[in-house]
Amino acid sequence: MNSRVSPRRKCLSSRRRGRYLARVHAPPGLRGEFRSDDVARALYSEGAGIFRILPEAVAVPKDVSDLALLVRWAAERGVALVPRGAGSGMQGGNVGAGVVVDLTRACLDTPVIDLEAQTARCGASVTYRALNGAAQPHGLHLPPDPSSGAFCTLGGMAATNAAGAHSVKYGTMRRWVRALEFVTADGEAGRTDGQSHGRTAAEQRFLADVAPAIRASAADLAASTPQTPKNSSGYALDVFARSGRTADLLVGSEGTLAVITALEVALAPLPAERTTLLVTLGSLEQVGPAVLALRPVGPSALELLDRTYLDFVRGAAQRHLATGTEAVLLVEFEGNGREAAAAVQGIATSVELADDAATVGRLWELRHLASPLLASLPDHLRSLQVVEDGCVAPDRLARYIAALRAAAAACGFEIVIFGHAGDGHLHANLLADVTAPDFARRLATCLEQVTAEQIALGGTPSGEHGDGRLRAPFVGRTFGAAYLELCRRTRTAWDPAGILNPGVKILRTDDAGTLRPDALKVGLEAPALPVGIAARLREIERTASWGTFRMELA
Ligand SMILES: Cc1cc2nc3c(=O)[nH]c(=O)nc-3n(C[C@H](O)[C@H](O)[C@H](O)COP(=O)(O)OP(=O)(O)OC[C@H]3O[C@@H](n4cnc5c(N)ncnc54)[C@H](O)[C@@H]3O)c2cc1C
Repeated sequence: MNSRVSPRRKCLSSRRRGRYLARVHAPPGLRGEFRSDDVARALYSEGAGIFRILPEAVAVPKDVSDLALLVRWAAERGVALVPRGAGSGMQGGNVGAGVVVDLTRACLDTPVIDLEAQTARCGASVTYRALNGAAQPHGLHLPPDPSSGAFCTLGGMAATNAAGAHSVKYGTMRRWVRALEFVTADGEAGRTDGQSHGRTAAEQRFLADVAPAIRASAADLAASTPQTPKNSSGYALDVFARSGRTADLLVGSEGTLAVITALEVALAPLPAERTTLLVTLGSLEQVGPAVLALRPVGPSALELLDRTYLDFVRGAAQRHLATGTEAVLLVEFEGNGREAAAAVQGIATSVELADDAATVGRLWELRHLASPLLASLPDHLRSLQVVEDGCVAPDRLARYIAALRAAAAACGFEIVIFGHAGDGHLHANLLADVTAPDFARRLATCLEQVTAEQIALGGTPSGEHGDGRLRAPFVGRTFGAAYLELCRRTRTAWDPAGILNPGVKILRTDDAGTLRPDALKVGLEAPALPVGIAARLREIERTASWGTFRMELA
């Protein structure tokens, strides 16, 4: 890689070294920042999730043409680039050993709403909250609503096929993306519907060399894809085989096929009314039947709080949580919830209906109790997102919950389980003493066991966060060798030199392991960071201030 440390670097002080490398290595003509000093590298060594990997350098392009120049420079030299939005992704796709590309200053076109078409176009670095802030005065919104919406970028959401509590009704990002604008690994700007730019060379290579094989294998690809309501694992080859839309393929590609620079998305009318049910279940076996009874009534959210979650928040909860409760479902309707209450009679231990804003708010408080508690854990006890995103068919939820609890117990971790039951999709936080010498080995075992269980249940390791570095080694096992081979050919067509996010999503060979102790932000072998930087990054994590511009901290 061109940005390797020269022998002279060793003789320079950290401050001068930064200047020296920046002078030597910044791509000629780049107008944005480019830094390879220890402080800048450390600031971009972490995202949400478990990894800490020091990049060679950090680039902050000023606009899309600056980004294209950077990519062409990297392609000529074979320098790896790690596209990055807010860094709130949990799968390790926003960190890496190459040049981290902070896109938050490059793709800031403000949202333009087309009221007649009910669509919006905006830059990829605009946050979900900012887009909705522009749409809501017109009675519109983008429905997939990640709980990270205050800070995550729309580019990050498209790249991971993000979703949220309302996906049970509205689906994931892919359903709402009409077109994407992007810069390819050749440094060429394009748009998925070919408008305004024509087709890029990368897309043409893909359409000529790989798309025919994908179309010819449509039935096999569909059979290899987990039959789950949501999936952010693998490339969406099955969807592309049906639709022929490049946008469907780029959504969920986690910065490995192209860098997204702008989006055109469909918007939906804001719901007029919302009611909520709180459904209490006395046994795990009732989770599947309750979810299956509620889904046909058309909930807009169907969330689960497992016993492990209720035990964790019990001390902080305003309401009494009976100890025999195995799970609570919070069910939202855009309209009257009475039909739903009737649907779970005979399954639920109790059902509470709220239709005024204050009572609805009180019921949902339960769902929001965990985050502050997790953030205030003592420093040695960390909440880790490693098996945090599995999704199964909703009727298999009870088996999956039991498997999650058992794997955590066998590996010596506490676990807190909650999530989007309507989609069969669960989040699971492992609580780990990261000072224990064998914790990384137990973590890897837990990941291995839970992933094997997800696959055995016909599920997917990722419902909405993506594969990243964490789950990339499991894509072949989830989808099978033929699917993986077509994913590899897809990647090669878009990015022949392999400069976009290597080690993320689809591995070029099967050999890469995951969760190496010296690539984690916790544990005794975590890479050392300059004084003060680890504490600043930890503060961002504790306070969920992922919108912080890292260069400002330097
Ligand atoms: C507290 C918290 C709550 C969360 N809740 C949810 C939730 O409810 N639903 C959900 O889906 N996720 C959730 N997430 C995960 C995360 O917020 C989402 O994955 C989000 O979409 C990532 O956006 P980002 O801008 O932070 O992207 P990053 O984390 O910077 O990047 C994520 C991935 O996308 C790629 N990428 C980013 N921008 C681009 C681009 N412009 N072009 C190409 N590739 C790009 C990166 O390379 C990386 O692989 C949560 C995270 C946190 C910390």
